Amino acid sequence: MSETASTPAGLGPDHGYGPDIHHVLLSEEQIQAKIVELADQVARDYAGREVLLVGVLKGAVLFMSDFARALRLPTQMEFMAVSSYGSSTSSSGVVRILKDLDRDISDRHVLVLEDIIDSGLTLSWLLKNLGSRRPASLEVCALLRKPDAIKVEVPVRYVGFDIPNEFVVGYGLDYAERYRDLPYIGTLKPEVYGD
Ligand code: 5GP
Repeated sequence: MSETASTPAGLGPDHGYGPDIHHVLLSEEQIQAKIVELADQVARDYAGREVLLVGVLKGAVLFMSDFARALRLPTQMEFMAVSSYGSSTSSSGVVRILKDLDRDISDRHVLVLEDIIDSGLTLSWLLKNLGSRRPASLEVCALLRKPDAIKVEVPVRYVGFDIPNEFVVGYGLDYAERYRDLPYIGTLKPEVYGD
């Protein structure tokens, strides 16, 4: 299979997913430029402090990796995996911890990295959970937010992009575990869902 034949123009490798993509919402260049912007802002706000980045698996893995490199501060990284009960494209707010943090976050400056805030239910639960562990500070940096889908207001200090209320994939975000490895963010053709 030729990779370039199915790659949307100017968007670099699509790992062969090109035929499934309906349209590209954010290009690799837009994402990377925004990450540098967010990291500069965070570096200014946290100057002189050591930040503990908490990445929410699996969606935030690519974001965490690029963000940590762009953030010119000494940081440590922790990961947490949670699962939100619901359909394959929406969450219910009933959350289960699949993988907890490996260590205590009390008195630490915690910055949660989220891939996307949709209803806000998962994040709301997560902030309560992490807040109960008595960090010195607790803030959120989300790459994407869907303002029209919000069901519960959550305090998010840093947001990359506000996007329309559509299901998106790529740059860590999956549909049925596929598309996470795409360097850009896009929507899928309806036939991909098969329902
Ligand atoms: P929320 O609890 O805010 O509704 O949803 C949070 C989680 O649902 C996200 O961390 C993500 O895993 C998943 N999610 C929400 N919207 C999307 C989307 O548009 N695409 C994908 N792939 N996952 C989403």
